[in-house]
Amino acid sequence: MSLPEQIWNNCFRYGKMKKMIINCERCNCEYEIVVSIFNKKAVSECPDCEHRNKVKLFKSRISREIEKNNLHGMRFSGFWIRAVAYFYDVIIILILCTVIFCGIAIAINGTNGYGLSWYGINWALDSFDVRIADTLIYAVLFTGTFLYFWIFVGAIGRTPGKMLLGLKIVNGSDYKKITWLKAFARLWAISLSSLVLFIGNIMAAFSDKLALHDYICNTRVVNIREPKKSKLIFYICLGFILLILVSILVIFVIINI
Ligand SMILES: [Zn+2]
Repeated sequence: MSLPEQIWNNCFRYGKMKKMIINCERCNCEYEIVVSIFNKKAVSECPDCEHRNKVKLFKSRISREIEKNNLHGMRFSGFWIRAVAYFYDVIIILILCTVIFCGIAIAINGTNGYGLSWYGINWALDSFDVRIADTLIYAVLFTGTFLYFWIFVGAIGRTPGKMLLGLKIVNGSDYKKITWLKAFARLWAISLSSLVLFIGNIMAAFSDKLALHDYICNTRVVNIREPKKSKLIFYICLGFILLILVSILVIFVIINI
């Protein structure tokens, strides 16, 4: 591969160039052009009638920021990859909480008597007070979830789910790791994003790739893994999620029959 070819390919890999289909203003024929996402306008000659077509390009916040900060190779992560990372974090939290619940249940009742499940703790404490048991379960779930996200994001800017998918949370101003205080504030901003039908989270699906909590805290979620590898791991992780969901559905149907 020659050097210009390599540079060209890298531009595509990092999303700095994109292919577009346009219609000629004069003869109305369709043809493909390649444009830089950093340009606002382009002029392209029609291959049929040689008319010079003016093309207006949408310049997103991402392309402006990448350009301004010279962040070549840095890519913002969109809604789906962030949703998949979050799913893995939730699985890890559920496993951790189950271990804690079972630990408490065993500590109270020993291994015999009550099942090794979340309700192990509930059954174990029912002999005292059902409200205490329920409160304890919710308290452990809430505190555990909060601490999990705060400690991981505060310490290294990424949760295990984000590590798996190659994502990192950074400051919007200097693209460095966010502080413990900001990680704390961002958690409350995330709950605000999720408040009404997850609209704040879904905002990351649009061209700026920023969720409501990214706007509030001036943070960016970037993908620091090589694009080809990132895509492969994303699809493997997505496949695994679908497998889990289908299995749950199948078990649910079998139980109901
Ligand atoms: Zn034409």
